[in-house]
Amino acid sequence: MKIVNGKSNYIICQNIGYIINEELNNEFINYFKDKIVLDERVIIKKLTRHITDEEIMYNLSQVTSIAFGLTEDCNFRCNYCIYSGIYKDERVHGEQKLGLKEAAKAIDFFMNLITQPFRRTRSNDFSIGFYGGEPLLELQLIKEIIAYVDSQTKRIPSFKDLNIKYRMTTNGYLLNGETIDYLYKKGISLDISLDGPEKEHNKFRKLKDGSETWKDVFKNIKYIKENYPEYYKKNINFLPTVHPQHNELKIVEFFKQNKDLFDINKIRFGNVNLVGLNPNLKENWVKNLGESSDVILEKKVNSSIHDKFFLKNLSRQSKFTATCFPGSHRVFINQKGDFNVCERINNNFSIGNVHRGFDFENIRTLISEYNKEIIRLKCWECPLWFLCSICFVHAAHDKRISIDCESIKRQLQSFLLLDLKNKEEDYYKRNNAFCGSVEEYLDCL
Ligand code: SF4
Ligand code: SF4
Repeated sequence: MKIVNGKSNYIICQNIGYIINEELNNEFINYFKDKIVLDERVIIKKLTRHITDEEIMYNLSQVTSIAFGLTEDCNFRCNYCIYSGIYKDERVHGEQKLGLKEAAKAIDFFMNLITQPFRRTRSNDFSIGFYGGEPLLELQLIKEIIAYVDSQTKRIPSFKDLNIKYRMTTNGYLLNGETIDYLYKKGISLDISLDGPEKEHNKFRKLKDGSETWKDVFKNIKYIKENYPEYYKKNINFLPTVHPQHNELKIVEFFKQNKDLFDINKIRFGNVNLVGLNPNLKENWVKNLGESSDVILEKKVNSSIHDKFFLKNLSRQSKFTATCFPGSHRVFINQKGDFNVCERINNNFSIGNVHRGFDFENIRTLISEYNKEIIRLKCWECPLWFLCSICFVHAAHDKRISIDCESIKRQLQSFLLLDLKNKEEDYYKRNNAFCGSVEEYLDCL
């Protein structure tokens, strides 16, 4: 695949996942000929091999983070919410809550697992997250869970050295008075959803009864900053969701104008999910796409491209896309006590539950289905595999694993063009000359 861009043309070396200036192609092949070990048979063997119980156990014990889905309920009814009934394979808002008994079982299970001697990860850091719906509807349960963790770390010698941190994703409406005082005392990090200025935020983020929410959320944010300045600086992050019908420029302008409240580095812009969305709505949403903000675009380009050139990582050729080993980084425990790969995957792909622990067969099936349906069928021929951020979440529909990634490929291609253009400009500024050798070229990537 060839990319024509600015001053130079580039070739994507699909086999090893790298981009090379066309003029340096021969030199490059020479330079790396001993290091390039593409053996299709080895990759196929890796992708189809039987995964043993020991390997699964070893990977699972590396987990560094769990998160609880405390309740299916929410005080908001955001129009773009994945639980609003407009997504094909998602649950809707409901009444189900996690019980303290199930939460305590999960805590015992994971704290036991991460204190096993065969665990490779040396770090004692462990993070516990709270999600919903809206987790603050279950503040009492949060307090009970934290009290339980405290009691277990005091009581059980092997838990005593664990460095446990808490985090929460919240719509921010209930962050006031005693609630915020408690979260501050426990040092709980917060990701607050705020879609920029009043008009943009209120387009979609409404209460159950349809009333607007921006004024209250913004008042709470200011209250935290004024009363707990150090905690605010360290622990408060923002998650604006950008909808195609939002005015992106206005959202970014708002965060820039309120610099005293918002550090742009602590803002993670997200997009509404278009996968699984009702097709009529999707068409309607994207037809009036507004102008894009440079800040958001740059963040997206950086997160898609940054550090993804795999040259130092040739041995990872079988690592197409961005999937983890299910359960090896984090585990989401839903309201029923089922273990999921993460909070964003639908409930049909459980990898265990609090009563029985991990289900090794489900883990094996998930990996082999993904390898069969996505990697062997789609990614094998894809020139962009080394930039791809697809994972189980994007591929898990209803009870099937499948993907339509044409729009993602187009997006990756345009991000790549932009990234190369910026790097080229930087390089010309610094050197005032064309990359003359492979070493220089690699240096400028
Ligand atoms: S606050 Fe979150 S969970 Fe609640 S309706 Fe909005 S997007 Fe959904
Ligand atoms: S863009 Fe699609 S085909 Fe390419 S690596 Fe990602 S999932 Fe595979």
